[in-house]
Amino acid sequence: MSTEATFGNPQVVEETVDILLIGGGMAACGAAYEIMRWTEGTGLKVKLVDKAAMDRSGAVAQGLSAINTYMGGQDPADYARMVANDLMGITRDDLAYDVGRHVDDSVHLFEEWGLPIWKQPGDEDKPLKDGGKPVRSGKWQIMINGESYKVIVAEAAKKALGMDNIQERVFIVKLVNDKNDPKRVAGAVGFSVRDHKVYVYKFKACLLVAGGAVNIFRPRSVGEGTGRAWYPVWNAGSTYAMAAEAGAELTMMENRFVPARFKDGYGPVGAWFLLFKAKAVNAFGEVYMERNKEMLKQYPPYGLAHVPASCLRNHLMLHEMKEGRGPIYMDTPTALAKLAETMTPKEIKHLEAEAWEDFLDMCIGQAGVWAGENIEPEKKPSELMPTEPYLLGSHSGCSGIWVSGPEDLGAPDDWHWGYRSMTTVKGLFTAGDGVGASGHKFSSGSHAEGRIAAKGMVKFALDNKDWVPELDTPVNDLVEEIYRPVRTFLQHKDYTTAIDINPNYITPRMLQFRLQKIMDEYVAGVATWYQTNGKMLAVAEEKLEMLKEDALKMRAKDLHELLRAWENYHRVLAAEAHMKHIQFREESRYPGFYYRMDFNFVDEKNWKCFVNSTYDRKTKKWNVFKRPHVDLVSKPT
Ligand code: FAD
Repeated sequence: MSTEATFGNPQVVEETVDILLIGGGMAACGAAYEIMRWTEGTGLKVKLVDKAAMDRSGAVAQGLSAINTYMGGQDPADYARMVANDLMGITRDDLAYDVGRHVDDSVHLFEEWGLPIWKQPGDEDKPLKDGGKPVRSGKWQIMINGESYKVIVAEAAKKALGMDNIQERVFIVKLVNDKNDPKRVAGAVGFSVRDHKVYVYKFKACLLVAGGAVNIFRPRSVGEGTGRAWYPVWNAGSTYAMAAEAGAELTMMENRFVPARFKDGYGPVGAWFLLFKAKAVNAFGEVYMERNKEMLKQYPPYGLAHVPASCLRNHLMLHEMKEGRGPIYMDTPTALAKLAETMTPKEIKHLEAEAWEDFLDMCIGQAGVWAGENIEPEKKPSELMPTEPYLLGSHSGCSGIWVSGPEDLGAPDDWHWGYRSMTTVKGLFTAGDGVGASGHKFSSGSHAEGRIAAKGMVKFALDNKDWVPELDTPVNDLVEEIYRPVRTFLQHKDYTTAIDINPNYITPRMLQFRLQKIMDEYVAGVATWYQTNGKMLAVAEEKLEMLKEDALKMRAKDLHELLRAWENYHRVLAAEAHMKHIQFREESRYPGFYYRMDFNFVDEKNWKCFVNSTYDRKTKKWNVFKRPHVDLVSKPT
């Protein structure tokens, strides 16, 4: 009998390490770089697995035009205050402050590794860490030539860890708990998306940093445009789903981010608003932030801040659209004309080139839209549109996992329980998009948070040096579970003559459509102007439960579809968590991101608290509950 691995008979590779890093994005790269400095001489074995190739994996794949978190001498407490206000008051100041006090070191490293950072005239050759002044597009943001940002950051991570300790193109499907302690993780299983191999890892600690959740809502881009989204489509909620299944407490999963971006290309607006000082206007040229500013008074203190919370800015935009004064435009011609008033023709050309570069650095598709639609930004304004919702914890959102924070910032006792960045499951750590109740870390803060977590994990692994992980499920069962979509396909494929039409299975693509339809129509997607209510959520609850059942019948006709099947399984769980949290929180905490029309107000008295949850993978039931919130930094004066 041949022993060669085939689609139906994968090779099983088992490996034991001390620490496993799941993901290869900004947080994982930060962890990989930092961890080797602390493991030296300890004998600890570290491995990183990424579903893609690290050079271009994760949210920074396309590059970025700005680093959004850089203190440069500003007070981290001020930063924590901004984060809290933008996220309508319910964040953990301990986590934000900790990122704030560490983040600049990561930015200095990026520059040392070769990332070009724009400097103010006269400071061009001066490194940031020696007092060089960056070009700021906002209070916390600095401009970069960042097309190759991820390649640069990944190179440092790869060099630190060594390619022998990195496995690319391995998709992790689930974490496995310890046989003797169900509140502890002992392993993870996944499969190669290139070869017929299943990987079973055992470890003492693991960092789960697989990004946020994209494509759980029906995207605005359909048909030919399918696959175009704002956040990266390849981050499929794996972080939240795997953590939840392992028993970790999630937090603020009701939060979402609905960015208002350039229509169809999802191009960035930050540089236009902040650097070029452009204004967003309604179809009649009126600045809706001015026209509707009274509406902000209904949401004190978050609407009254110098920069009102992101969701409230959307709220004012949506009001214009619903009142019939759309489309909304970014008034690029006026902004560029104003800047040009004091410029030479050469400087004007340079400015226009910068406007294009902003897209070319991080969102080529938008430059394609401009070219395809004959848009010269100095002559023609561009449409803006709020996108479909995304779940994330590192950008302007705070959904994620409840983690142990720093011990020196006076936080309540239940905000830290030993190892920094550990979740409520022993040995399971997270960072970046994985950490909930914070946000606004962006690329640099996620890297810094990965580094912070790395130190916590090394300490944990050393304190547990003699502990031996034992999986609570036999390896054979795990392999069969992962390959179930393959088995389903092979068993039933000849029942019909049309491969995609079969009563015995559902294609991952069709399942994804079903999920997106449910979320869009009942859980406040674009179809209902981001509105829902208790009754609609009850319908969603029932439909999602059935979808979860049907998810077990997904087929995989090849390895690519196996990847799609498990991504969708993760998406369904992340979506369910989102729905359950919105259902539990009886108020509309984020107007402009979602509205519960049966509780269409912000209720500071009863709901200025965290909403947390746990999931039981055996009963498949959620337990959702409140945790008290406290402010650690004083309010701005
Ligand atoms: P990611 O960097 O997304 O990494 C996730 C990793 O997990 C990837 O390597 C992925 O391949 C891997 N993965 C996923 N699932 C699995 C699985 N099941 N098994 C194994 N591996 C898996 N930041 C700024 O500083 N400035 C900006 O201007 C800015 N703009 C942005 C604009 C856009 C359009 C986007 C998408 C992001 C932007 N960000 C910006 C934010 C920044 O990119 C993120 O905050 C940061 O990348 C989050 O880091 P992370 O490590 O948590 O996730």
